[in-house]
Amino acid sequence: MATSAVLGFPRIGASREVKKAVEAYWAGKFTADQLTQTAADVKKSNWTSLKEKGVTIYLGSGEFSLYDHVLDHSAAFNVIPKRYVGQGLTPLDVYFAMGRGRQADGVDVPASEMKKWFDSNYHFVVPEFSEETDFKLNFNKANEEYKEAQALGIETRPVVLGPISFLVLGKASKDAKPDFQPLSLLPKLLPVYKQLLADLKAAGAEWVQLDEPILVLDKAAGYEKEYTTAYTELSPVAPKILLTTYFGRLDSNLNFVAKLPIAGLHIDLDRAPGQLDEVIAAVKSTSIALSLGLVSGRNIWKINFQAAIKLGQKAVDALGQDRVIVATSSSLLHIPVTLKSEKKLTPEQKDWFSFALEKAEEVSVLAKVLSGSQDANISSAVKANELSISKRREFERTSDDSVRKRVAAITPDMLERKSPFAVRKEVQKKHIELPRFPTTTIGSFPQTKEIRNARAKFTKGEITEAEYEDFLKKEIASVVRFQETVGLDLLVHGEPERNDMVQYFGEQLNGFVFTQNGWVQSYGSRYVRPPIIVSDVSRPGPITVKWSSYAQSVTKSPMKGMLTGPVTILNWSFPRADVSRELQSKQLALALRDEVIDLEKAGIHAVQVDEPAIREGLPLRRVDWDIYLKWAVDSFKLATAGVSDALQTHSHFCYSDFDDIFPSIQRLDADVISIEASKSDMKLLTTFRHYGYSNNIGPGVYDIHSPRVPGDQEIRDRLKAMLEILPDSLLFVNPDCGLKTRGWKETEASLRNLVSAARWARQQY
Ligand code: GLN
Ligand code: ZN
Repeated sequence: MATSAVLGFPRIGASREVKKAVEAYWAGKFTADQLTQTAADVKKSNWTSLKEKGVTIYLGSGEFSLYDHVLDHSAAFNVIPKRYVGQGLTPLDVYFAMGRGRQADGVDVPASEMKKWFDSNYHFVVPEFSEETDFKLNFNKANEEYKEAQALGIETRPVVLGPISFLVLGKASKDAKPDFQPLSLLPKLLPVYKQLLADLKAAGAEWVQLDEPILVLDKAAGYEKEYTTAYTELSPVAPKILLTTYFGRLDSNLNFVAKLPIAGLHIDLDRAPGQLDEVIAAVKSTSIALSLGLVSGRNIWKINFQAAIKLGQKAVDALGQDRVIVATSSSLLHIPVTLKSEKKLTPEQKDWFSFALEKAEEVSVLAKVLSGSQDANISSAVKANELSISKRREFERTSDDSVRKRVAAITPDMLERKSPFAVRKEVQKKHIELPRFPTTTIGSFPQTKEIRNARAKFTKGEITEAEYEDFLKKEIASVVRFQETVGLDLLVHGEPERNDMVQYFGEQLNGFVFTQNGWVQSYGSRYVRPPIIVSDVSRPGPITVKWSSYAQSVTKSPMKGMLTGPVTILNWSFPRADVSRELQSKQLALALRDEVIDLEKAGIHAVQVDEPAIREGLPLRRVDWDIYLKWAVDSFKLATAGVSDALQTHSHFCYSDFDDIFPSIQRLDADVISIEASKSDMKLLTTFRHYGYSNNIGPGVYDIHSPRVPGDQEIRDRLKAMLEILPDSLLFVNPDCGLKTRGWKETEASLRNLVSAARWARQQY
C-alpha cells in the first residue's frame, strides 16, 4: 500500500495562537508555562487534524517552533554564540535573544543574522560555528515531540534538519580563524546526531525524516564525501532514514544520493516533475522507498489529481506500492493553515484553492488512489476534483485579451529610456535642482498607532472614505512639513495609506484576490498575508497619484513617487500556476508603467520603484539564472522607461550581496539606486567601482532596523569611507531602508544627523 506524508505543517496555529502567545511572553504577560501550553495545544491540534484527514502514519513531530526551526536546532545542539551565554538568561530567553536580540535589565545583545530560506520569503536564523563550537545535545526536541504525540496515541515521523545542511547553511562566527569552514566540524557533529537518532529509535520511531534541502543546490556536488561519511555512520543507529530534498531538482547529485544507505528518498515533483524518471531509474535496483512530493508546499492551488496520479502511477509501476510514499513537496509552513477560515472568498474562488489542511487531505486521497482503493468516497473525491479543475480551466480561458495583446506587443524600445544616463543626468539637473550629496529617504515614515487605528476603523466601516482620506492627507502634510524642517532635499509622501507594500498594490489592481486569515510565517512572530494572483493583471486607474500629487501640492521641494516593483509584487504574492512567472511579471510591469507615466504627468519629479525581492527570486540553480534575470530586469525597465528624460527613476534593494548579479543591477539603468550598506563593509561599493557603474548610488548611511540613533560624526565617517571608493558626483545620502517600523523620536534625531553630515560633505568635497 502507498502511504502518505506531510513534510511539515504551519506552526502558527489556525488563529495565530503562537504569535499571540510568544508576543505575550515577550511582553511579560504570559509565563513560560503558559507559552508551552499554547505550543502543546497547537501541536496537538495539528497532529489530530492531520490524522483525521487520513494522512497515514507520517505526520511530522519535531518540526514545531516558537520562532524558527533552524534556531531550535542550533539551541538543541548547543550552537549558541558566546554573546548570549553567561548573561543569567533562562534557556528559553537565550533562544529568543538569539532570534531577536535582547535589550533589558542590563543585557544588551543584538539578534543573530537572518537569511531567506532558499527562494522563499521565510527567514531562518543563521547558525554560527567556529573551531570552538562544542556540540552537545542540550535537549532532544525531535524525541520530546515524538513522545508528546505518542502520549496522545499518535504515531509520528520525527523531522530533523540533516547534518550537512545544518553546517552548510551556517556561517563562520567572528572569532573563527579566517579560513574556517563550518563543514570541517562534521566529525565532531556526527556523534551528537548519533545520540539523537539512537534516542528516537529507542523511543520506537520507525522512521526519521532528515531534511537535506541543500542537495538541490549546485554546491552540494562538492559534498559527496561528507554525505557518504555522514549517512554511513548514522544509518546503523537511526530509525529508517527518509532523506528529504525540496524546492528543486537533484540533478547530478542524484548519482551519490541514490547510493547512500538510506531507507527512503523524498523528491520535489512540484518544482521539478521532470526528475521523476531519472530518480526512479537510480533507485529501482535498491531498496530505497520513494517519497513523491506531488502536492505543492509552496502554492495554494488545488492539486490536479489526474496529472498527479499519472506521475504517481509511474513510480508505483516501477517500484510497487509499498515503496511509494505520497507527500507534500516541502513543508506546508509556506502556506496558510486552512481555507475554512475564509468567509469572504466566493464559492467559485474557494474551489480553486487548497491550504495546508486541504493539502493534507489531497495527499491522503492520492495515496489511496495509488493503492488501488475502491472506496466510494475516494472516487467521488477524484471526480469532484476533476470538476473543480475543469471549472478553473474555464475561468482561465476568460483571460483579459487586451492585457494579453499588450504584453505580446512589447517591443525592445519600450524597455529603454529615451537617452543614456549621461544625457538624462543633465536634463534632470535642470528639472529637479538637487544640491550635491542630495538627501532623501526610502519612502515610508513611522506607521504609528494612529495610522493603524484609522485604517482599521476605515476597514470596519467605522469612518467614511472621506474621513479616512482627510486623515491621510493630514498625515502626509505633516510628514512633508517634517522633512522640510529637517532639511531633506528630495521628499516623499511617507506611505501612510499602505498596509503593506505588496498587498496595497494588489488591492488596487485587477487580477488579485485576498484572504482574511491567510497568514504565513515570514520570521519569528512576523506573519504576512500574501495576496493571490488569479487572473490577468491590469490597472483600473491611478493608484498612488492622488497621494503623491497632494504631497507635492503642499511643498516647493521636489517629490519622489513611491511604487513597489513588478518582480517584488510577484514574489511576495501567491502567483498563478497556469501561466509563467514571466508573463505575470510583465503584466504587472505594464500596469506600473502607466502609473509611472501618470506620476510624471502629475508633476512628480522622481519615482522610486522598489525591488527588494529581485534577488530572492533568483533560481536555486545557476543554469537557470540568465533566463530569470532577463525577464526580471526587463520587467523593471518596462515599468520605468515610459517617461521623459527629466523624470528621475530610483530603485531600492534591502540587501547588498549582489556581487554575482551585478551586470543585471547595472542593466536596470535606474537613475538612482539605494541599497543597504550600513551593516556590510565597503566591499559592495568596490564592486560598483569595478564595473565602472556611472549612475547615481545611495548606499544607506545608517541601519534603520534598530532604534539606535547614528551620530553626526558616525555618518560623516561613513560618507568619508564611501567617497574613498566612489566619485562624489554619484552619491545620494539616505538611510538603508524605509522608516515604517521606527518611532518618530529616533527618526527625527537620525535624519537631522544625516542632513548635517551631507552638508558637511558639500563643504569638504
Ligand atoms: N518604500 C518602501 C518603504 O520605505 C521600501 C521597503 C522595502 O524596501 N522593504 O517602506
Ligand atoms: Zn529596503
